[in-house]
Amino acid sequence: MKNMCDIVQDILPLYVDEICSPSSRTLVDEHIPECEKCSATLERLKRTSIDSSIEQEKNTVLKHHQKATARKTFTVGTITAMILTIPVIVCLIVNLATGHALDWFFIVLTSLLVVASFTVVPLVVSEKAFLYTSLSFVGSILLLLGTCCIYTKGSWFFIAALSVLLGTMTVFLPIIARLYFPNNSFWKKNKGLFVFLTDTVLLYALIIFIGIYVKSQTYWYTAVSITTVCAVSVWLFFLIVRYLPANAFIRAGSAIMYSGVFIAVINGIIDAILGEPQIRLFAKDNIINFELAVSFLAVGLVVLIAGIIRAGVKRKSCKK
Ligand SMILES: [Zn+2]
Repeated sequence: MKNMCDIVQDILPLYVDEICSPSSRTLVDEHIPECEKCSATLERLKRTSIDSSIEQEKNTVLKHHQKATARKTFTVGTITAMILTIPVIVCLIVNLATGHALDWFFIVLTSLLVVASFTVVPLVVSEKAFLYTSLSFVGSILLLLGTCCIYTKGSWFFIAALSVLLGTMTVFLPIIARLYFPNNSFWKKNKGLFVFLTDTVLLYALIIFIGIYVKSQTYWYTAVSITTVCAVSVWLFFLIVRYLPANAFIRAGSAIMYSGVFIAVINGIIDAILGEPQIRLFAKDNIINFELAVSFLAVGLVVLIAGIIRAGVKRKSCKK
């Protein structure tokens, strides 16, 4: 019987796949009802072959579905793009027919590029859709601004462009960093730092270009000082929240108390920069700020103390 089992066990995979000879099939059919071990093996083989074929089937269907969806969205994207070209062509014809310069044509073309950037691009691009959509959105807005600036003979392009960059990057960069930075890279772990650095550079670039544009003597000192005070304040807040080596309560408490100090002193600092120094914290018209500052300090202190107690309890339990 033992010998028979060995033979049947050898044939079973062929039996399940239905590729064994009729005589082997009969042999298995006769043996299975009287042997528990071989019958169990047969059940197991049947089950795994069903599971794997279901899995295969599922993957094929999914792949097919993905391909079909990709094809459909690509078609919708192409049709949208074609519809968007209609006004551009009309405008080109009208411009040429009236003997006008191509001003309206380029302005319409670039505005439609803005529309296409967030309607057509995400439909047509199959990988990294968010990255390409946001980049083409920002790029097309810059193109539109450039075109308008050229045709109105303005000199405001860099100010407008930097404002757009600062605004859009504040929204897009954190998402781009989260989605596309390689895992475990330095910048992936320090996304906040990356966004803060970029925004700070853009902010100062904006202040510099406004300075070049307004050509005022008093501008530089006032603008750069106030910007620096605000930038440093926000950076300090960020560093406390993100990098203070302590538990979440201590970090939150410190950040709230820091906000209290900020509210208390910021008006005084800006007054001093503007050359009208006065202690405004206790002034009557500053009562709301004073109350806010005191409440922030009080709430922050409570959270901070809770954090310190928590850290103490943890240290004790670690020692044990
Ligand atoms: Zn057997």
